[in-house]
Order: sequence, then C-alpha cells, then structure tokens
Amino acid sequence: MSIKIFVKAKLADFTTFRLGGACPKLISCETPEELEKVISQLKDETLPFILIGGGSNLVVSDQGLDCCVLRYVTDKPLLKREGNDVTVSGSTSLDALALFTIEQGLEGLQYTSGIPGTVGGAIVGNAGAFGKQVGDFLKSVILLSSKGERAKVGPENLGFSYRNSNLKERDAIVVSATFALKPGNKEKLLGERKDILNVRKEKHPDLSKEPCAGSFFRNIEPTSKAEKRQATGYFLEQAGGKDLKHGGAYIYSKHANIIIKGKDCTSQDVLELSKKMAALAKEKFNLDLVREVRFVGKFAGNVKNPKELIW
Ligand SMILES: Cc1cc2nc3c(=O)[nH]c(=O)nc-3n(C[C@H](O)[C@H](O)[C@H](O)COP(=O)(O)OP(=O)(O)OC[C@H]3O[C@@H](n4cnc5c(N)ncnc54)[C@H](O)[C@@H]3O)c2cc1C
Repeated sequence: MSIKIFVKAKLADFTTFRLGGACPKLISCETPEELEKVISQLKDETLPFILIGGGSNLVVSDQGLDCCVLRYVTDKPLLKREGNDVTVSGSTSLDALALFTIEQGLEGLQYTSGIPGTVGGAIVGNAGAFGKQVGDFLKSVILLSSKGERAKVGPENLGFSYRNSNLKERDAIVVSATFALKPGNKEKLLGERKDILNVRKEKHPDLSKEPCAGSFFRNIEPTSKAEKRQATGYFLEQAGGKDLKHGGAYIYSKHANIIIKGKDCTSQDVLELSKKMAALAKEKFNLDLVREVRFVGKFAGNVKNPKELIW
C-alpha cells in the first residue's frame, strides 16, 4: 500500500514551478485501487479536495490552499498492451507511456516524449507537441467522480481541442486510459524519440535550475483553415517580451513564452509578469493571449478567465 498522508504539506514541494504555500493535508496515491479507496473516504469529509498530478502545469497561491490535495502519481508505470491498444493508469508519467509504446513498436505517442506530468494531467489538458496531441490517439478513459461514481467514456465525450478538454470543468478524475495505436518500426520510433528529447533539451529550461510550468500561454489560434497555429513565444519575443520581469519572476532566455521562478519569486510575481506579457501582446499585435498554465488558490487582483482558477 503506497497511500501517504502529509500534514501541512507545502505545494512548492509538489509542483515543477516550486511555488505554493501549504494545504492542511496532502494525500498521495499511486494505483487506481488506492485512488478509489481514498475517494471513498474523502467523499464523506467536510474538507473539500482538489486533485493534482505531476504539478507541471500549475501556479499555486503563496497563501496555500484551504482544502485537501489528492496527488495521483506513480514512478512505477502501470501499463498493459492488448493488440495495438495500450491501457495505462492516470498516475503513470506521460513520458513512461511514450517510451513503453515505442519499445512495443507502436506508433502515435512518440511525439509526447519528454513532456512532464502524468497521463491524467495530459488528457485533461490535451497535452502534445509537434502538432500531435494525446486526444488524437485516445480510445477510452475510466473516470471517477468525487462521489466515487465510475464511468467509461470515449474521446467524443471529452470535448478535445487544442490544449483543452471539457474535463477542466467536470467533476471527473482520470483513473486510467486506453490508447489505440498503429504498428510501427521500433528502431525508427526510438530515433524519433532521441531527436525529440534533444530538441526539448535545447529549447526547455533545466527544471532543477530554472523552475517553471512550460509554455505559459497557448499558441495563437489560426484565423482561417489555411493557416497554422502560430507560436506565442515568437510574438512575445518580437515585442521585446524577453526583457520583462516582475519581482523574482523573469522570462527564459531561449523562449519568450516561459516564465522562470528566480530568486525570492512568489506566485503573485508570476501572475503579475503574465499580465505584463498579455498586455504587451495586446499592445503590439492586438493579440488576446489565453493561459495554458492553471492558477490555483487566492491571488491579489483578478485572474482574467475564472475557469483557469481551479480552486
Ligand atoms: C519544462 C516543461 C515543458 C512542458 N512542455 C509541454 C509540451 O510540450 N506540451 C504540453 O502540452 N505541455 C507541456 N508542459 C505542461 C505540462 O507538462 C502538461 O500540461 C502536463 O500534461 C500536465 O500534467 P500534470 O500531471 O503535471 O498535471 P498537473 O499540473 O498536476 O494538473 C493540471 C490539471 O490537470 C488536472 N489533473 C491532473 N491529473 C488528473 C487526473 N488524473 N484526473 C483529472 N484531472 C487531473 C489537475 O486538476 C489540473 O487541473 C510542459 C511543462 C514543463 C514544466
């Protein structure tokens, strides 16, 4: 049994941004069975809860959270192949899933190599890279509500769009998922993975030295079907965004759409810097940036889209 309870846990210890105050209780579980057990106990408690995965897409308030946090992450991948389908727990890391499918000679998820976080978090945010996203290959998911009700649903019920799904607004935890893949050439897929990991290493910060949550804003929507989605980082860089700072928050030197936690940085600094980035994109290019990263908890001043404030 690997259920662990941390009292007065600091969220900074459970997010890649290394930011966020304490919550009264953090319960960590790894398997679908443990998750269901914890939910069956939490559903009768008065203290509400939120669920996190790898914490790689979150900015948690400096003031901490007034609720219990349930963390669904495992470092022992829970994966099973049946034909060309692969079933995986929501707690398994997305990169472990990518590597498993490649080693099995299955094509489709190699593009997700190196993306931090869990399979559950990736499905909620329809994570992806190089024009491919996890929703493209999903066959079904097992969902669990905060009341402990189970449901199996297909991707047509999840409202997938670019970096989005309707799970962001639903009371539903991704317990496990099945992906439908195609047979591929293992050696070719391993080569693709190596190239992708090299590109990511070159473009992304080293999280142990420059904590962050990846790209802060979504890329720009095309205005017609003839156009491709354009990189927000490009526009921010053209506008001079790399020089922006607020308190201890600054912009990554190689990518103008990534905020880094510097010395004495607070979550509020990150919010303020993101407002400056959005204002710059509006002023120079009349672009309305949409956040990809989710804010959790209380912040001074308003967060533009309340749906992004998950607690
Ligand atoms: C260096 C870096 C690079 C990145 N590169 C990319 C990239 O190339 N492409 C990309 O798409 N993203 C990228 N990201 C962002 C991030 O990795 C993804 O958004 C990831 O899928 C988030 O997963 P997570 O488990 O960390 O989710 P968390 O950050 O823990 O949570 C995010 C949201 O998902 C919900 N959630 C988490 N697990 C579950 C579950 N099992 N069931 C229901 N809800 C759940 C949470 O409640 C929350 O609302 C990057 C981040 C970093 C730090």
